[in-house]
Amino acid sequence: MAALRCNICGEAPVYYRYYSGEKLCKRCFIESVIEKTRRTISKYKMLSHGDKIGVAVSGGKDSLTLLHILSNITRGHASEIVALIIDEGIEGYREEAVKHAIQTCEELEIEYHILSFKEAYSLTLDEAIKLRRDNSLAACTICGALRRRAIDLLAKEVGVDVIATAHNLDDVLQTFLMNLFSGDIQRIAKSRVLDESSELFLVKRIKPLMEIPEAEIALFAYLKGIPFQRASCPYMNESIRSEIRSILNEMELKHPGIKFNLLRSYLKITSNLKIEAKRLVCSLCGYPSSNPICGVCTILSGLRGEAKRAKHPNTTKT
Ligand code: SF4
Ligand code: ZN
Ligand code: ZN
Repeated sequence: MAALRCNICGEAPVYYRYYSGEKLCKRCFIESVIEKTRRTISKYKMLSHGDKIGVAVSGGKDSLTLLHILSNITRGHASEIVALIIDEGIEGYREEAVKHAIQTCEELEIEYHILSFKEAYSLTLDEAIKLRRDNSLAACTICGALRRRAIDLLAKEVGVDVIATAHNLDDVLQTFLMNLFSGDIQRIAKSRVLDESSELFLVKRIKPLMEIPEAEIALFAYLKGIPFQRASCPYMNESIRSEIRSILNEMELKHPGIKFNLLRSYLKITSNLKIEAKRLVCSLCGYPSSNPICGVCTILSGLRGEAKRAKHPNTTKT
């Protein structure tokens, strides 16, 4: 039987890209992921010449891979990269991720800025979860809303033109299907993957890895020897997301390329959805919002109300 060879250079392959039929060696695989990301950025006009890019870095494999790729793509160009690190305050978990994030920034000589939930909101995520009495408010809902805001505030403070987040193809599709299955068309309309600048954030957002499957990012991080946080967050409870992940992976195995078809459908649907998002300003914090009180203020006032009631239990009686 003929020996397997990389389709590009003839070396021994390390990866079979089932949806395109390519066999790639380590060097060609790494180059191909960088090139695919470069094409995504260019195809969707994600960056302009000279943009200062704030990369949202959690310390996980996706964000550290994104940092490596963007550092490679922008080398020798006018664009500048800074890393935006948010410390949610999750004891025994976040410290290691922040350590990996700083280590990678130092290796790549990328300036980094850290903002903690404690600094931004006067409470850590751990403290927020302890205050929460309404268990229907998932930890990830609190964390996600506060983190998106914290990244936006930090980006504004640092003078960033665009925030790059590390959502990969699988993340984008899972979120789309989760919203679809819950009947939340409004959220799908708001989640326009290519146009998140508009009403709900201070700084434009892009997802340069949206066309890279999660498995390729994991392999990229492994082949490049990028150290990243492997432990799972203690609050993670993503049962529906995990189910959707398994379904999508099974379908992709049976029908290679189906994830890219779904991405194309998602982009077409969101670009044609004509749901007018309300463009209001939060009456408590002045931040852009689609409601009179923004999601972050609703969460924080709910938690602080719980704190007051915990200190003065009589006030909870009706
Ligand atoms: Fe935050 Fe949930 Fe992610 Fe943990 S799993 S870091 S709580 S969003
Ligand atoms: Zn090769
Ligand atoms: Zn607000």
